[in-house]
Amino acid sequence: MTKSKGYIAINDIPVSIMLVNKQGLVLSHSPSVLLLADKPIPEGSNIANLFPALPFKASKKERSYTFEHSIHGKKQTYRANVKPVEPNFFLIWIENITQSSKVERINHVLVKLSAIGLESTTPESFYQLMQAELNTLFDAQNIYLVLFDKSRQRLNLAYVSDTHTINSDYPSGNTFALWVAHRGQGVILNRQQMNRLKSKYKLGFYGPPALCWMAVPLKTQNDIVGVLAVQNYQNPNAYDHNDLEVLEFVSAQLTYMIVQKERENELKIAKGKAEEADKLKSAFLANMSHEIRTPMNAILGFSELITRETISSEKKKIYADYITSNGRLLLTLIDDIIELSKIEAGIYTIRRQPVDLENLFTELHQFAINEKKRQKQNIMVARDINVESRIAYILADGERLKQVMLNLISNAIKFTSAGSVTIGYRVPNNATIEFFVSDTGIGIPKPMQEKIFERFRQVDETAHRQFGGAGLGLAISKRLVELMGGRIWVESESGRGSRFSFTLPLIIPNINKSTRVVQSTKNEFKNVLGKTILVVEDNEANINYLRDLVDVAGANCLTAKLGSEALKLLTEKAIDAALVDIQLPDIDGLELIKKMKGLHPSLPIIIQTAYTPSEYIDKAYAIGAWGYLTKPIKADDMLSLLNELFSSNT
Ligand code: ADP
Repeated sequence: MTKSKGYIAINDIPVSIMLVNKQGLVLSHSPSVLLLADKPIPEGSNIANLFPALPFKASKKERSYTFEHSIHGKKQTYRANVKPVEPNFFLIWIENITQSSKVERINHVLVKLSAIGLESTTPESFYQLMQAELNTLFDAQNIYLVLFDKSRQRLNLAYVSDTHTINSDYPSGNTFALWVAHRGQGVILNRQQMNRLKSKYKLGFYGPPALCWMAVPLKTQNDIVGVLAVQNYQNPNAYDHNDLEVLEFVSAQLTYMIVQKERENELKIAKGKAEEADKLKSAFLANMSHEIRTPMNAILGFSELITRETISSEKKKIYADYITSNGRLLLTLIDDIIELSKIEAGIYTIRRQPVDLENLFTELHQFAINEKKRQKQNIMVARDINVESRIAYILADGERLKQVMLNLISNAIKFTSAGSVTIGYRVPNNATIEFFVSDTGIGIPKPMQEKIFERFRQVDETAHRQFGGAGLGLAISKRLVELMGGRIWVESESGRGSRFSFTLPLIIPNINKSTRVVQSTKNEFKNVLGKTILVVEDNEANINYLRDLVDVAGANCLTAKLGSEALKLLTEKAIDAALVDIQLPDIDGLELIKKMKGLHPSLPIIIQTAYTPSEYIDKAYAIGAWGYLTKPIKADDMLSLLNELFSSNT
């Protein structure tokens, strides 16, 4: 037969037709069956060998079957209609229904997901069921969900279906997830593409590398809250643009459920905390009345005794000492409570002045020696300050710094009856100084190591505890350290001792030029003197740090935690330059730069970011940014950049 145009057209129809006998022997077939079978079909072939998943059975009735079959390694869904044409012969036509069945499955999955959303009580159970549903749509060995914290500084691995262990909370800088979030749209990457991106942007992959990785950002109306990723370790072509469309579609629906679940969970945690706080308050009242009564009883008792005439003058002196020391104890307690209330009411201001560290440590050492005598502890007290990291002066609130150290030292001595207590500091990087007090005392069990920084928490919370104290010292210390822009923590082992450490921003004042760390003096950065710098940053500790740097350079500092605040300040104040964090909770960085430039076209803007793909920086420059700084920002880098800026501007 000559091949007419019509013959060719018939073969283009995406339906494959076969004639088989009742044993399934293929008697004739349309040429498209060859494509479908993906191999030659010699005479005598059986349908069961060609399409093992098609459950053909000879029957007098017309039947249809749905089955899956892979072509070039990609799974597709087919429908086969089997019609008896004569006794013992069957006409079979097979259609590819992958697309329409996928739509059905997506609908089914979405209905299931909304039911799961309502039924599951914890985010974990929701994510687990969500993963099971997504697995019916994608050929994935691992599905994971990453959520950002508000500043996008940290990622929380909210769910991972893989068995590989990965930290659940890690910095977001230089991760593929953050890269996808910046990109703002989904992506499919194979191993080579991932390797290329890895070296180009210094991206890190937490967990085993996939052969094919597909991820989409989870977008709400005005934010990107996380990234949903699926990955395949076996097939480099596991996903195509259809799959990406499906993942984007499903995740658009999922995002709001995820946000809702996380909020519900936050509320639950907050409720738990409120209940705990309530319990603590009662415990505190009981504790306080004990703490106040004990010295009060002593004061009243000895006051009464001292007035008796029969008492020798020697005894009177002892009793007067008891009254004084118990009075002091009461005063400390009252001071602590007032102090804590003041900090919590936010009326505390930190005053930074040059602190002579040598003097401070001499005083602290002397205090420790007196304290061990007072507490009758037979231990050694030592200073451990590495010569390399010795610093003459820092800019800090000396009184608060001393207060925190004194508290840690008296605790260390109180809880150490043998061995030693050591005090000191070190400089882990040139932006931070780390103070410590370590002891060889009773130690703190792991579950209590975070709790002791909460108000009124003590390791021994029984009524007959051996050690005095109201459980306020560490709560005060923690708040003070945070106010000063640092962080406090403890490492400890029960029975072996504890080491309390806290950091402060390392700022060297303009006093001692022989110090090793870079000097940030008004002279060196003279162009910056008197300028007004707007710092746009949402992280409290970073704000404090940057404000100090601006202060040190003799410039005025204005701060804004949100993009909207920054824009408002621009309309109200005369600002010479702005230092802008491009990951603010309320507005995209580029958008903010555009708006700021709109309000103040000649304003030099320096962007500060933890993650800087070069395209992003290029875009920022294109819309008028003047420079950029990578976090963590070094004092010297920032001040030099500002100095350079104003030298070219003036
Ligand atoms: P207080 O010492 O008045 O109880 P703090 O807030 O200073 O209050 O300390 C809270 C608790 O932390 C203490 O009661 C104790 O259980 C534990 N703790 C603090 N420092 C140490 C230390 N160096 N060694 C062992 N336990 C400590």
